Amino acid sequence: MKKHDCLIGGKWLRQGDYHENINPSDVDDIIGVYSHGDALSVDLAVEAAKSARTEWISFTPQARHDLLEAVGKTIAGRAEQIGRLLSREEGKTLAEGIGETMRAAQIFKFFAGECLRQAGDIQPSVRPDIDIEITREPVGIIGLITPWNFPIAIPAWKIAPALAHGNCVILKPAELTPGCAHVTAQILHECGCPPGVFNLVMGRGSTVGQAIVAHPGIDAVSFTGSAATGRHIAGVCGRMMKKVQLEMGGKNPMVILDDADLSIAVPACINGTFFSTGQRCTASSRLIVEEGIHDAFVEEMVAEMGRLKVGDPLDSSTHVGPVVDARQLQSNLDYVGLAAKEASEVIGGERLDGAREGFFQAPALFLGTNNEMRINREEIFGPCGSIIRVGDFDEALSVANDTEYGLTAGICTQSLKRARNFKRRAEAGMVMVNLPTAGVDYHVAFGGRKASSYGPREQGRYAAEFYSVVKTSYSFAG
Ligand code: NAD
Repeated sequence: MKKHDCLIGGKWLRQGDYHENINPSDVDDIIGVYSHGDALSVDLAVEAAKSARTEWISFTPQARHDLLEAVGKTIAGRAEQIGRLLSREEGKTLAEGIGETMRAAQIFKFFAGECLRQAGDIQPSVRPDIDIEITREPVGIIGLITPWNFPIAIPAWKIAPALAHGNCVILKPAELTPGCAHVTAQILHECGCPPGVFNLVMGRGSTVGQAIVAHPGIDAVSFTGSAATGRHIAGVCGRMMKKVQLEMGGKNPMVILDDADLSIAVPACINGTFFSTGQRCTASSRLIVEEGIHDAFVEEMVAEMGRLKVGDPLDSSTHVGPVVDARQLQSNLDYVGLAAKEASEVIGGERLDGAREGFFQAPALFLGTNNEMRINREEIFGPCGSIIRVGDFDEALSVANDTEYGLTAGICTQSLKRARNFKRRAEAGMVMVNLPTAGVDYHVAFGGRKASSYGPREQGRYAAEFYSVVKTSYSFAG
């Protein structure tokens, strides 16, 4: 069995016990074993990062650019192999796994460019003979804590801006998907990332994650995961006055108005609700449908759901892979059980057998629901969507906004007026018109409102807000 160690100070070090990485499509397929560190591993990584800081800050923008560009190119060159690993450990289809890997490559290349675009401001002073310069500097040592559902793209969209802005990094990936993070660490190492600038400490959230958040030597924490964990992290960071960025859950609405083109709306809802097994923070979980189109929309959705093939993600005919593990599957099945009590009808949602023992579940659609039901208030994080029937646009908008979350919101309509109105009034960080709620570009701001996000946005040029600090310098010419 291949053993995988943590990367600390440029060395591969075994930390604690090895834990199995299990394929959710075939529980007999053990992808490898990965060493789980603890608080002492985080101490070691912080010391390594401290020693690396001075050298890393002195790297020219060109040298940083070249490193990130090489990492992006290497990931792209191995996209097929990494995508396959991603599908095996997380359960996305191979096409989705390769697509996510290519996304990670593009992110590294984008931030390679950002290394060369770090301009400041010069402003005249209100006083005579004084010049003011406003520049950005690295924050210092940044802890990155990531979830299992985008095991290469999310680490990439945190590591790349952190390094581009001159920070040192300690990454703790999710316990369920250490493989892609380990490959990313190998590539950074191979491409010449100086020892200690990037460190990988695998392990549990309650030990390694907690130690990163509470470590006085770590200046900032960027976290993606559940709202419950995020709230806890915000509390610790707040007390320590540590910079923090949180990306959390969603209960994203997709509004289908009477004038929607069903040939656009139905594929957008099938994609947004069921692709990647519904395990996307941006998934469409509440389908809010205007009365006049309700029956036709539901009929076409059910027909399309029937055509979705659930199975081994490495089989090119599969549309929906497995749920990530037994615990998540049980949670999804519990919600299907709840839906059987709350909704007027449940279509699908049952556990399925695969060719091998895995965590397969049929896509589920809950009909005849309202927005007060628990199935429409809590994030399920599986291949499940609800239909909420509404009378008109105003009701649709009000239901869409009636949630504690605010990550994405979508609308399908042919009316420019209502699309414009929705874009302005939807309480979400990202709004989609005639597009699935999931699926974003990598060069623009990503993030939400309310319980979905806290702190500065991720990705694109907006990432600078979190990964750098502003300095204002005054000089008197004499
Ligand atoms: P999770 O909160 O259980 O875990 C996320 C990460 O936090 C893991 O690495 C975990 O080990 C770590 N962690 C757990 N407890 C910790 C603690 N006490 N201190 C520090 N770290 C700790 O989430 P998950 O189940 O891995 O991911 C699914 C969730 O992520 C969903 O809610 C989903 O919506 C959300 N998500 C959000 C986005 C976004 O950008 N908004 C993107 C992807 C996933």
